[in-house]
Amino acid sequence: MSRYLKESFRALCEYTPGEQPKDGEYIKLNTNESPFPPAPSVLETLSRKDIENLRLYSDPTMSVLKSKLAKLYSVESENIYLSNGSDDILNFAFMAFGHKGAIFPEITYGFYSVFAELHGIEYEAVPLREDFTVDYKDYLNKDKLIVIANPNAPTGNLRPLWEIEEIIKSNPDSVVVIDEAYVDFGGESAYPLTHKYDNLLVVRTFSKSRCMAGARLGYAIASKGIISDLEKIKYSTNPYNINRLTATLGEATVDAEEYYMEKCKEIIRVREYTTEKLEAMGFEVLPSCANFVFARHSGYDGEKLYLELKARHILVRHFSNPKINQFNRITIGTQEHMDKMLGALDDILKGDTL
Ligand code: PMP
Repeated sequence: MSRYLKESFRALCEYTPGEQPKDGEYIKLNTNESPFPPAPSVLETLSRKDIENLRLYSDPTMSVLKSKLAKLYSVESENIYLSNGSDDILNFAFMAFGHKGAIFPEITYGFYSVFAELHGIEYEAVPLREDFTVDYKDYLNKDKLIVIANPNAPTGNLRPLWEIEEIIKSNPDSVVVIDEAYVDFGGESAYPLTHKYDNLLVVRTFSKSRCMAGARLGYAIASKGIISDLEKIKYSTNPYNINRLTATLGEATVDAEEYYMEKCKEIIRVREYTTEKLEAMGFEVLPSCANFVFARHSGYDGEKLYLELKARHILVRHFSNPKINQFNRITIGTQEHMDKMLGALDDILKGDTL
C-alpha cells in the first residue's frame, strides 16, 4: 500500500477470486465456469474483419445485443443494461442505490460486502436459517438496498418466486437486486416481475450458463428508470464498457439459445448424479439449483479435503469462514470430470496416500 491511497480505502478487504492455476493441468471445479465450450456458431463468428475493427471503439449503446436480449425476454431494449461481467452491475447497484444502507445474507456471494465497504455503505448481513436457506421474512419492510442471489451462492439454495415477490412488494421505496447468475440451472427467473415492479433489478451473466466467463458479459433487466440510472453511471465512468469482440460473441450467443439450454440440462443431470454419489459416500449435500454443490463430510475436515483434492490436481472451492469451513463448493463439470473427482474422494476417504 502506498501512502497516497485515500484513507477510506486503506482498510478495504478486497474480494479473493478463485484460483486460476498455471502450474499444470487441473480439473477445475472451483469457479463455477461451464465445462462446455460456447456454441459451434459462436466459435465461428469472429472474422479477421472483427479483429481489424478493433481500431474502432465499440458501440456504447450496444443496440444490437440489447434488442436481441429484449426479444428473448419479451421486454424493451430500454429495460436492458449490459456490462463487463455482472460484477460491474452489482458494483453500480451498490453505488447508485445503497445510500439508505444495504441488507443481504451473511452467507452469500462474497462481493456484496466488498462493494458495500468500497462505497462506504452500512450493511446488515443476515444469518441464514439452520438449514442454510434464506428466510424471506428477514427482508420484508427494510427500506434499504436488498441483494439476494437466487439461487444463493455458495449454498445453491433456490427460493420460490412468491417469496421474492413478497420482498419486492414490501420494499417499494428501495431497490431489490436479484442476482440470477445461476438461475438457468433449475431456477425460475424473477424478470417477468419487472413489468409489475419498478424497484426490481434482475442481474444475470453470460459467465455460467452461456459458457463465456472469459468474455466478461453481464446484463440486467429492470424498469426503464433503473436502467437509465445504471446508464448514467456507465456514461460517467466507462461508456465503452463492452469490447467489440465480446459484443459480437454475445449476439451469436443469444441466437444459439437452444444449445445452451441443452447444456444446462446436462449440467442438471450430472449435478443429480454427483449428489447421489456424494451422499452414498457419506457427504451431506445441500439441495442445489445451481451448477455447483456444497458438501461436507462429518468424518473429514473440509479444508483438508480441499488440499487433498488439490494435491490430486482437482480444484474445488473452500471458504475459511468458520460457519461454512467444513464444506467445499464443487462446480459441476462433465460426467468424466465428476467421476474423476468422485474417484479421488473415495481414495481420500479410504486413507489412500498419493
Ligand atoms: N453473482 C454471483 C452469485 C456469482 O457467483 C458470480 C461469479 N463469481 C457473479 C455474480 C459474477 O459473475 P460475472 O462477473 O462473471 O458475470
